[in-house]
Amino acid sequence: MLSQAKALVEELLSLSPEALIRRKRVGKVLNSWIGSILPKATSELLEHFEELPVQKRHALLREIHKIINDVDISQSDCKIVFSPLAEFLEDKFAKALSELGFYKCFDLLWFLPERYEDYRPVDLKDSLIDKRVTLTLRIEKTSFSPYEPFPLSLECYQDGKEVFLKFAYKNPRLLARFKKGDTLYVYGRLKSFKNQLYIVHPKLLKQDLIGQVLPFYHFGPKPSAKLQPFVRKAIKTILLKLGKTCDYLPESTYIKHHFPNLAHSLWQVHFPEFYSEEELNSLKTPSQLRLIYDELMLFQLFLIFKRESLKEFSSHKLLKAKENLPRFRSGLPFELTPSQERVLEEILKDVSKDKPMNRLLQGDVGSGKTIVAIALAYLFASEGYQSAVMVPTEILAQQHFDSFRKILKPLGIEVGILTGSSSQSYRESALKHLKLNTLKVIVGTHALLSDDVEFANLALAIIDEQHRFGVLQRKRLLKKGKGLFPHTLVMSATPIPRTLALSLYADLDISVIEKPPAGRKPVITKLLFHSEHQKLIKHLQKELSEGHKVYIVYPAIESEEIDSAAIEFERWREELSPYEVLLLHGRMKDSEKLSIMERFKDSASVLVSTSLIEVGVDVPEATTMVIASAHRFGLAQLHQLRGRVGRSSLQSYCFLIVPDDLKRQNPKALERLAVLVRSNDGFYISEQDMLLRGPGELLGNAQSGFSGFRAADLSRSKDRELLNRARLDAMELVKNPEVSERLGQIVAMLYGDESKFKGGIYTPES
Ligand code: ADP
Ligand code: MG
Repeated sequence: MLSQAKALVEELLSLSPEALIRRKRVGKVLNSWIGSILPKATSELLEHFEELPVQKRHALLREIHKIINDVDISQSDCKIVFSPLAEFLEDKFAKALSELGFYKCFDLLWFLPERYEDYRPVDLKDSLIDKRVTLTLRIEKTSFSPYEPFPLSLECYQDGKEVFLKFAYKNPRLLARFKKGDTLYVYGRLKSFKNQLYIVHPKLLKQDLIGQVLPFYHFGPKPSAKLQPFVRKAIKTILLKLGKTCDYLPESTYIKHHFPNLAHSLWQVHFPEFYSEEELNSLKTPSQLRLIYDELMLFQLFLIFKRESLKEFSSHKLLKAKENLPRFRSGLPFELTPSQERVLEEILKDVSKDKPMNRLLQGDVGSGKTIVAIALAYLFASEGYQSAVMVPTEILAQQHFDSFRKILKPLGIEVGILTGSSSQSYRESALKHLKLNTLKVIVGTHALLSDDVEFANLALAIIDEQHRFGVLQRKRLLKKGKGLFPHTLVMSATPIPRTLALSLYADLDISVIEKPPAGRKPVITKLLFHSEHQKLIKHLQKELSEGHKVYIVYPAIESEEIDSAAIEFERWREELSPYEVLLLHGRMKDSEKLSIMERFKDSASVLVSTSLIEVGVDVPEATTMVIASAHRFGLAQLHQLRGRVGRSSLQSYCFLIVPDDLKRQNPKALERLAVLVRSNDGFYISEQDMLLRGPGELLGNAQSGFSGFRAADLSRSKDRELLNRARLDAMELVKNPEVSERLGQIVAMLYGDESKFKGGIYTPES
């Protein structure tokens, strides 16, 4: 576009005055191409090009020619944007920013302002009523009436139009600050009452702010007042170095979406000139959307390159899977479901090649993912290879260890476990056997990543992740493959709608277990009000008398305001006696948690807990899940919790306990819970959840690993739509080798130095 514009300008400059006069519409055309890189006044002049005298036209064209020449897109591919802040800022600034979590220029530049205030003065008009405005006013009269709600009042004028400024100050001495005839610059919401215009507590602006649109950034709950100007200044320093027109994407890619170039977008996001406060605050300007798109685009590119780079590696491959599988099947207490068979087949196809598998195994809670993983570990062990199974918590590690051992031990395959609480002597012996290849299957937490864990021939890494935790940690595990790259199977119980999964897991192939094992009865889910407590007790006593087990989950351990596990535990003990009731929560030591879980599996009947047991816990005799203050949990989390029951052929129940007045207090919450009552289908629930509140809780918040996005927020449907566009564009872009090479360098700059990148996408290596 720029080169086209340049050619046009040069052509126009070469015309005779008569010929130039005859050319129509060139102003508008040029403006549509490059208006965004021109100073505002220039662009406005250009809009009225055909009305200008011919000399002025020439002058304008020469000015534009110079601007175009100054910005040589081909030379600047925005490397600054992806470089460390320290290269462009003074050390002390860079250090202060790194403490706030900003390491690369990208981190800072993609930190979108939370809101804007427009300090460009406007003419007072009735049409501005209820809008926030900046006004230049002259004080006509000041008054102080101590008994009014707004004692201090200033009667002001702008061009003969009257407006009152009202303040709740009770101190009459403040009046001395304002004098008749003074000029005031004020910012606030214009109101009208009985045909009188007024503003309550306007901001009084210093003159140097007038004309700017000021961005405000969000720094958590208690930011220091100095941060705003500090960050603005740092951003400006970088943007001045960056210039006004650079881009790393080909023009055709962003123009297609009506986005301006990147540098221009960055300027217009942090130092806007062309947009109104209202547009900016609603996050709909092309510049803001462009940055959101870019962040998603870079993430897509990263995943695509990651996937590509895997092709360079080789892996061990299975040769005898078909021969070995029957022996595994014969040891199972059940038959694999058709869904399980299908995903196993997909996986076996991958691992019988010598290129690394990189596959996501998705399946709703209880769909039976674990057994697929065990089958795989068995097949690798049978051909002499090692497998590592990494899970996020100790409880899950213990449980997977039990499940793997129960099936593999009778088949003659030892399973080990490594967690933070493994004893020194056990650990040493496990490490020794891993090195010697006398231990083929190891289950563990992050403890597996530690440097002294060495494998003789690690060929398979199974990663059971709650959400998308630790792409990096995964990488560390994969590095243990000694030259050959382990096949990777990532298991996730977070049902993500397919379109979203395709983008967020663009680096992985996806297999889905669609149906749970046959014979499962859907969990019966009921909403129960507090006052229906006796009904609940009756149900629990019946279940317990049949030897079934019960979970009771609370949103908090101890709390004054809300029901909490530790406090209610005693009451349950009394009410459900003589059955054994246990308490489990996150403040316990890991070893303590494990022994509680053991007792619950063996002898105890009731487990009162926090949401700690949300993920993966498998106790088939548990048939009732009681969730207290259910409205305080998100749908996805509730679905996970409910997934702890219904894990056998027994009929299971889930009770969502809510306050009697919830309907009045929070009708939305009730609506969300109704989704759970009517469906057991995780995919349906996640889709409804998104419709009702966005995937924030599904993928968004802190624990999920997607908080790493700075500008994008996938709980906004607009951003999900941009993600889709970014994905398609990214796939298209990498097809061009030259573009792909350049983008590859950028992605490496941005994501390569992982230890510094602390966003949630990457869990830091430690
Ligand atoms: P998730 O997919 O949530 O990890 P699990 O792998 O823990 O589910 O399986 C849930 C329960 O279903 C376990 O108790 C498991 O033994 C059982 N299970 C798995 N596959 C089958 C099957 N084909 N037939 C019967 N039960 C099965
Ligand atoms: Mg599981």
